[in-house]
Amino acid sequence: MKIKPFPTCLAFSIIITICFAGDPEAERIYGGFYTEERIANLRNNCNKYEWARRQRDAVIENAKPWLAKSDEELWTMVPGQDLPRTIDVTFDRLNPGTEFTGCLICGEKISKYGNYPYNPDFENKPWKLTCPSCGAVFPTNDFGKYYLSAIDEHGLFNPDKGDRSLLFNADHPDPEDPLHKFGVDDGFGYIDKNGRAHRYIGYYTWQYWTYLNDGAGALADGFLYTGDKDYAHKAAILLDRIADVYPEMDWKPYADRGWYHSDGGSMLGKIGGSIWETGVAQQLADSYDKILSGTLDDPELYVFLKRQSEKYKLPGPKGSRKQLIENIDNGILRTSFEAVLSRQIRGNQGMHQLTVATCAMALNTEPQTTQWLDWLFAPDGGAIPGLMISRSDRDGTSDEGAPGYALIWGRLITDLARLLEDTTRYNRNNIFRDFPQFNTSYTVAYRMSALGIATPNIGDAGSTGLVATQANPELMARGYFYTRNPEIAVAAYRANGNSAEGLGRDIFSRDPEAQGNEIRRIGEKAGPRPEGGYLMSGFGLALLECGTGTSGIALASNYGRTKMHAHSDLLNFDLFAFGHWLAPDHGYPEMATNIPSRNEWTKSTLSHNLVYVNRQPQKAVWGGYTRLFKQIKGFGVFSIDGKKAYPETDEYSRTMFLIGGSNESRSDSNSYVVDIFRVIGGNDHVYSFHGPPGIITTSGLKPEIQKTGTYAGEQIPKGIWAKDFPVGYSHLYNVRRDQNPPGQFMVDWKAESGYRGLTEKDNIHLRMHAMTQVQDIALADGDPPQNKPGNPRKLGYLLMHRSATDLNSIFVSIFEPYRNKPFIKSVRRLDDGKGSEVVIQVEMTDGSTDYILYNEGSQKELDLANGISMNGEVGYIKEKNSIVIKGILVNGSALRYGNMNLRSAGTITGKILKMNKELAGGGWMLVDNRLPADGSLNGEQIIVETDTERDASYTIKSVERENGLTKVYCGPISFVSDFKGGTMEVRTFKVPKSYNLGYLYDFEEGARFRITSHKTWAKKVR
Ligand SMILES: [Zn+2]
Ligand SMILES: [Zn+2]
Repeated sequence: MKIKPFPTCLAFSIIITICFAGDPEAERIYGGFYTEERIANLRNNCNKYEWARRQRDAVIENAKPWLAKSDEELWTMVPGQDLPRTIDVTFDRLNPGTEFTGCLICGEKISKYGNYPYNPDFENKPWKLTCPSCGAVFPTNDFGKYYLSAIDEHGLFNPDKGDRSLLFNADHPDPEDPLHKFGVDDGFGYIDKNGRAHRYIGYYTWQYWTYLNDGAGALADGFLYTGDKDYAHKAAILLDRIADVYPEMDWKPYADRGWYHSDGGSMLGKIGGSIWETGVAQQLADSYDKILSGTLDDPELYVFLKRQSEKYKLPGPKGSRKQLIENIDNGILRTSFEAVLSRQIRGNQGMHQLTVATCAMALNTEPQTTQWLDWLFAPDGGAIPGLMISRSDRDGTSDEGAPGYALIWGRLITDLARLLEDTTRYNRNNIFRDFPQFNTSYTVAYRMSALGIATPNIGDAGSTGLVATQANPELMARGYFYTRNPEIAVAAYRANGNSAEGLGRDIFSRDPEAQGNEIRRIGEKAGPRPEGGYLMSGFGLALLECGTGTSGIALASNYGRTKMHAHSDLLNFDLFAFGHWLAPDHGYPEMATNIPSRNEWTKSTLSHNLVYVNRQPQKAVWGGYTRLFKQIKGFGVFSIDGKKAYPETDEYSRTMFLIGGSNESRSDSNSYVVDIFRVIGGNDHVYSFHGPPGIITTSGLKPEIQKTGTYAGEQIPKGIWAKDFPVGYSHLYNVRRDQNPPGQFMVDWKAESGYRGLTEKDNIHLRMHAMTQVQDIALADGDPPQNKPGNPRKLGYLLMHRSATDLNSIFVSIFEPYRNKPFIKSVRRLDDGKGSEVVIQVEMTDGSTDYILYNEGSQKELDLANGISMNGEVGYIKEKNSIVIKGILVNGSALRYGNMNLRSAGTITGKILKMNKELAGGGWMLVDNRLPADGSLNGEQIIVETDTERDASYTIKSVERENGLTKVYCGPISFVSDFKGGTMEVRTFKVPKSYNLGYLYDFEEGARFRITSHKTWAKKVR
């Protein structure tokens, strides 16, 4: 049975018109953001500067096709509520079967063109979608003709009116032809032989609305840049007509049919899902703000709108500029604000706030503009102060785990602050003044990029092995402009390729190049990015690096949020070498909705480089805790406590080293990773690791092929939901098992040509030296998302399994990235494997030998048979020709071997006496012992004891004496982590209830702290 089309309510909302009638300022000349002065500056700059002139030329070119359209044509282009829309042709939320049915002709081959494979050509192929894979064109009927037959007396598509005799395959007009109805879509989709809908028109209409909104934007820019009122005239026709229909637009009836859009599962929205609708409304409001002054004295415009209104029996009066403005104010701006309140417009935090701010500025009408701006900062409104404190971290990201999402807040709030900052009318709240710690958000995308070039693909971010940075130099330049913090200018300069070219140009300013010149001066003085990684304890990312740029190597381990758009992947790591990610995360799932390949695989623990405990994925947490972080040239180590992800364990921690690459000597040009993963407690541990896609060879293992099924069992098929077997096991197929593995073996992944641009002659490998006795080992294939361009077909997994009651596991491995030829000759564990200490000997092919010593807690002295002794936590020794040439001791007092006798003061500990408890003033604390104030601790981590959910580890910026005490300054951050007084739910978001009851902190006064110390030793070269 066909579901009846949705009842068309009265096409226009009478209530809104009555409520908002009679504005005193309805006849304002300018919008609130595009003021007379700004517009004048922009037009002057276009005459003065070549770059501005080029922008103007591009704007004119872009608006050309829209300017050429007649008034009538533009007006009739706007559809209404009853023209269906969706963002996926076949995905069906109500159908429990296959999620995707693909193209009617080529099936799933279309998947590799991404989530949104069709790009309609609105000008030349109206109402058609062309498959990018096979070239088939759908729907097969002339939908345009049917659409016209269904236009009702109000000028809108009404499915009840359509001439259904027009619904046939145009290439097969004979009703007896079996293909007569094949591929025919009446707007609600073609139903295939399996009963699955193919909603070509729905998908087309989704993009058609974007096209219309962009068209209005192109025309609005045309007016802004040229002052030619013809552009404003055409834009006004589109905006006025959209204002007619926008109050009635409602996504829910389509969501209720199982159709897909960006509604985050809420089923709410307007033209589309509530999340993307935030941008739709912003764009409409922004275009409107731009053209207001262009609609003065345009009698032809008013007459045209009046004529259309009468012809199509529209309810509101038209015929004057006042009425035009009232219609758009109500139909777009006030409707959008109401929709934010009703959650029809609601995105990730920051999105709907920016929508309200944009609408408030365009409205430019008191008292409402001020009321809406106040709303942004109210606890039960936009809740910006609450979100700023309770959901943001000291690195400037929000509480989402994936970089792409975690960075949204900073970017959007900057846009919002920009709207308010430059207006003199509103100063009750000021983001830059009231939340000085927000300034870390400008540089965070750059800081989280390994080697400054590659943002780790953490959580729902990027795609498998994608090498790209989220850093946005222009955003940083803007941040510098508002904060005058030179560190931001330096980051902008470096992220822009060590140049200020094109940065900070504010075309609305009287002197648009002033900022760029300032950034150039500061950036040139600071020079390029220094070598070496760092810790981002707020976001939760440990970065160890050696070398620079694409020739460098970086180890990135994430230990931040594992909720929202995150994966259950606390302590996961990826390795960047030779310009590629060699242990790549899956990145963005096939779809961010409930499907097995996302919920139980891409997003889940087992698909990551982690230990899977008790056959259950990790719990979602805020993050882990830093135990140790040290980066010096050619040597880095960190240790992170991740127990919260598996609360049933006594220990779930990872200690990793990146060693070598200092290029201080020829025997130190390569780098390798040491991984020590400790899990105490639980009765089932699986260490999962995958390298780059490509051929895997093993040495020491005797894997036997499991003929059928998956890691879940011979009878369990690939990809099914977990039932009576652990989550994720059914996604590992092509299984080979070794039931009696040795305590040491090697696995080598050769990155395949084609992987993110690799060619056969690149010959890049990642070799793993495993040094752990386990019960059984499996090799298996697992698929990353298959609908992301550039993703590999499959990844090769190694699964090391132990099971017994109350397990105590230390998984020890070395990862050796190499090109052409390995540089490690052999590895060996020198510890007895019984205690918690780990000692590894690594022999290099060049004849040198490394020793890595790890003695967590450093309770007892480590003495080895070969004469090495260490009193401390971490030691590293390089030996060549029986002579020690390098030694490093971290958090210890002595490291001795042969000709080396290295002594150090050990870990610095103490107590916090006093701390800054305000939002402003930066992160400073007074401590009880005299720390060296000579700069030697700058850059070190001070790790403060805490029982809150946040890691209280901070990078020391300076140490000073103050009134006999030592003051440690940790930069322009704040220790405030939340408001007191609990939370409440506002439009389904949890936010702080009150801003007046004081703060909660990362830690408390009286807490103990540790500062990592280190000492290096090098043989004098004569
Ligand atoms: Zn196709
Ligand atoms: Zn992941």
